[in-house]
Amino acid sequence: MFGRGLCLVEIQRVGVVGAGTMGNGIAHVFARNGFPVVLCDVEQRFLDRGLNAISKNLEREVSKGKISAEDKQAAFNRIEPVLTRSKLSNCDFVLEAATEKLEIKAEIFHELDQICRPEVILASNTSSISITKLAALTSRPEKIIGMHFFNPVPVMKLVEVIRGLATSDETFSTVRDLASRLEKTPVEVNDAPGFVSNRVLMPLLNEAMYTVMEGVATPEAVDEVFKLGMAHPMGPLALADFIGLDVCLDIMRVLQDGLGDPKYRPCPLLIKMVDAGWLGKKSGRGFYRY
Ligand code: NAD
Repeated sequence: MFGRGLCLVEIQRVGVVGAGTMGNGIAHVFARNGFPVVLCDVEQRFLDRGLNAISKNLEREVSKGKISAEDKQAAFNRIEPVLTRSKLSNCDFVLEAATEKLEIKAEIFHELDQICRPEVILASNTSSISITKLAALTSRPEKIIGMHFFNPVPVMKLVEVIRGLATSDETFSTVRDLASRLEKTPVEVNDAPGFVSNRVLMPLLNEAMYTVMEGVATPEAVDEVFKLGMAHPMGPLALADFIGLDVCLDIMRVLQDGLGDPKYRPCPLLIKMVDAGWLGKKSGRGFYRY
């Protein structure tokens, strides 16, 4: 029989591993909702970049009148940046938001399992790696869960709460309630390649790329169809550029490998663009030029 996990009221100090796009957003929402946060990355420059982003994003909330200048300062002061992972040992909940590579996450989960108290729940923000697989690397598979936030984290309401095969009902309800405490809307999803969000979204983006490759329409025309006809705030090709074409390709491959159906074949144009280094907004060129 497994030991009891911490419940919501027992979660005070939170650890976040990775201070990149998602990690800094996640630290931001925890700190803004009153949780002391230990934010861990591998180099000082990554921590500095993350703190800088948090400061700017909190300032934006001040200028929009969502929080006061004092709230901003208090939230910022709740975040303790660290380079040593052992400093996560006094955390009551740890969320991993490091680079999307199985070997990196496997090493992190293995070590967190050693560092953190046995009753602590360990969550991952992974977009595509199996929660069930990460859980099997630890001595507490029933306390491993996916907590999948969306970019930009301070703005987007959804959190997919992913149950691995071994995740206990107790762990699930604690993390669901924790997402609500952060003013997010949790949605329950079982562990499967791409969960729900990417399982449905990525084939849409991939199919939009096929229409461009086959000369059915230009990227601008495809995006207009979705903005004006389906009321999407952004067309699928602009969205793919924003996400990163390399990230889209990786996720299509996860769907193809994990589900085995040829309908998940990545669009050859997507593969070619990634080979060319046209990765979307972050590289200055994708379906559009930036
Ligand atoms: P990112 O590249 O912006 O940030 C990753 C950070 O992790 C970097 O700062 C890196 O230095 C750090 N890191 C790498 N190895 C580490 C280690 N061993 N210990 C501590 N930190 C380490 O990536 P991101 O976009 O923030 O993605 C993070 C996770 O969130 C991934 O699993 C990704 O799939 C997932 N995700 C991303 C998005 C998105 O839109 N970007 C959305 C949902 C989920």
